[in-house]
Amino acid sequence: MAPMRDVRVMRKRIHVSGIVQGVGFRPFVYSLANGLDLSGIVFNDTAGVVVEIEGDAHKLRAFSEALVRDAPPLASIEHISEEEVTPQGSVGFEIKKSDRTGARRTPISADVATCAACLKEILDPGDRRFRYPFTNCTNCGPRFTITTAVPYDRPNTTMSEFAMCSRCKAEYEDARDRRFHAQPIACPACGPSLRLLGSDGSRVAGDPLSRSVELIRGGAIVAVKGLGGYHLACDATNDSAVAALRRRKGRDEKPFAVMVPTLEWTCRIAHTTPEETSLIASRRRPIVLVAKRDGNGVADAVAPGNRSLGLMLPYTPLHYLLLAELGSPVVLTSGNLSEEPIAYRDDEALRELTGVADAFLIHDRRIHMRCDDSVVRVVGGRDYPLRRARGYAPEPLVVDRPFTRPVLASGAELKHTFCLGADDRAILSHHIGDLENWETMSSFVEAVEHFTRTFDVRPEVVAHDLHPEYLSTKWAVDLEGVERIGVQHHHAHIASCLADNWRSDRVIGLALDGTGYGDDGALWGCEVLAGDLQGYRRAFHLHYVPLPGGAEAIKEPWRMAAVYLNAAFGAEAGRLETHFTKRNWERAQPILHMAERGLNSPPTSSAGRLFDAVAALCGLRDRVAYEGQAAVELEQAADPSITRTYPCSVADGVIDGVELVAAVVDDLSTGTPVPEVAAAFHASLARSLVTACELTREEEGLNTVALSGGTFQNALLLRWVREHLERTGFEVLTHHRVPPNDGGISLGQAVIANARLAVSS
Ligand code: ZN
Ligand code: ZN
Ligand code: FE
Repeated sequence: MAPMRDVRVMRKRIHVSGIVQGVGFRPFVYSLANGLDLSGIVFNDTAGVVVEIEGDAHKLRAFSEALVRDAPPLASIEHISEEEVTPQGSVGFEIKKSDRTGARRTPISADVATCAACLKEILDPGDRRFRYPFTNCTNCGPRFTITTAVPYDRPNTTMSEFAMCSRCKAEYEDARDRRFHAQPIACPACGPSLRLLGSDGSRVAGDPLSRSVELIRGGAIVAVKGLGGYHLACDATNDSAVAALRRRKGRDEKPFAVMVPTLEWTCRIAHTTPEETSLIASRRRPIVLVAKRDGNGVADAVAPGNRSLGLMLPYTPLHYLLLAELGSPVVLTSGNLSEEPIAYRDDEALRELTGVADAFLIHDRRIHMRCDDSVVRVVGGRDYPLRRARGYAPEPLVVDRPFTRPVLASGAELKHTFCLGADDRAILSHHIGDLENWETMSSFVEAVEHFTRTFDVRPEVVAHDLHPEYLSTKWAVDLEGVERIGVQHHHAHIASCLADNWRSDRVIGLALDGTGYGDDGALWGCEVLAGDLQGYRRAFHLHYVPLPGGAEAIKEPWRMAAVYLNAAFGAEAGRLETHFTKRNWERAQPILHMAERGLNSPPTSSAGRLFDAVAALCGLRDRVAYEGQAAVELEQAADPSITRTYPCSVADGVIDGVELVAAVVDDLSTGTPVPEVAAAFHASLARSLVTACELTREEEGLNTVALSGGTFQNALLLRWVREHLERTGFEVLTHHRVPPNDGGISLGQAVIANARLAVSS
């Protein structure tokens, strides 16, 4: 006997939270209700989507199931609550206007790359959106960068300046249409349009797209207004165009990213794994670092001396059209002068990029939030983010321990991000940049204002780094009416790795980076910590050496080599027959003198500076053009088939980097080739770190190790440390959602502040 169908008429009020606005959720609910012949309403409120649904009880059950099972591709449901309400005898189903009261906790979606359906339209000569660069639908298009307020509706986006034409309006209002309630909907008749300006700002006649393609083909540099800001584009296969771009931008050697027309192109110019290919093609469309193919046709100046290359696919119709017509890869780099944030306002771009760009491909859709491209590497088959921005931010990260009070974490300094914590979510900002100048600082302050308003988080607690000179610390200390919590830099690194892995237990943390302010006032950077979110014990650290000249020593790795040589050999170092000493020992004397007297030479246990020293000793580099360059080159020089090690003792809380450097120098002076020395150095450091973890395990009974800090961007070191730890029986935690570098620091600060609040209350 078939079960009796429950035909009682019921009405339910269903609340859905998560990423459910701007992703076609209401139209989906609408067609679902109509399909089941149910009546009611759906609307956005500031906390998500509310559905009131009425009909036979068995149909309501089917509705609830399908609501989760068949949700639109971009939706991410975090929570659903249902309550029974009194039936109203309603007829038909409708989409109501948004309700603007209540807590505004609805996440804003990240920007989404053009979907296949929209792409088909812009390439179809018969379609009314043929070659239209602002085509989008509920499944794709700009979100975060154009949203000015919540809830996410057209008046709260920069598209509010454009009135829909009748055809767009019909699509927008038709529940069966792919563009039903697509807030940025546009077409050639009613939406934004392109213009091409010459270097003097005057309008260039002709079709802006075709003219831009001609210019790029001819070797020119064109500023292109994209999703989150201006990029500079030039032909990636043209050596002189790329060289000109470097010269004009004032960027010596830092690699440029390349946008390729199609996925086939990525295989042509790089060796890619299936995981890398699917990440490149994902709707987040990050720049993915992949292994360069020899003789790939891309100009050497794109990533000089680098074995990897950052590749991405087009992610807006404008990029698609440009690349399709060009038919070859372009360099696409942030439109800014070195060290400044990406330009995103038209007047500012025209002012700053005059003399850099030969032409400006611009349009009249305003960018509200600037946002750089994200950069991700695939390590061990999993995503390993290096810069989290477009396509990811401001998607909240769910944390395993809810925030008891709203927290704002002000981050560190380089690769800066900040983080808001409220309820069970950490909202990590997009990459802001290096907080070293007024422009970046004001970009940070504006973003904090935007995030606190749109996510409706009023921070009661502010977490900050201990470094008194960081602008982010000074800013936090000046805030009024909040409780302040200072967080040690490397503790924050380890906490961010824990939060990244939904963990909060006590672990061993390996925090390796450039520098961070230590509890003793020294500059830490190679730390073995035993701790949890509340606190830690510093179990081991790299032997202190002076950092001669502070910031100067970071730009000039030869200084660190001199300091290590002096520590290892004293005055004897001058008699060593190495290339390095012949070249540098004489000029090192005043610096060593300065260090001896303790002038502007704080003690440091930095892993980054140890890599610098070894790179300089290997003759790879005396000066760097960007932070971390020497370490990158040392990694690339290493021959990974070599795994012999140098002595480097680990005892009494100290890892003896000086002994390690002495062994490196001895080996070099017997003529051992650099690839072998570089590899042995990596292997030795990895082995010493594992030894320190084993000793800590004996004392603390901890069996999990979290790896964090910018030095773990070094894939060789990461691989060897992880493999060695796993062989020794440890569980190893690495980053997957946030970067290991200082871009992840603010997440760590936020969860530490929350853990300390829980203890003190
Ligand atoms: Zn689309
Ligand atoms: Zn239109
Ligand atoms: Fe750091």
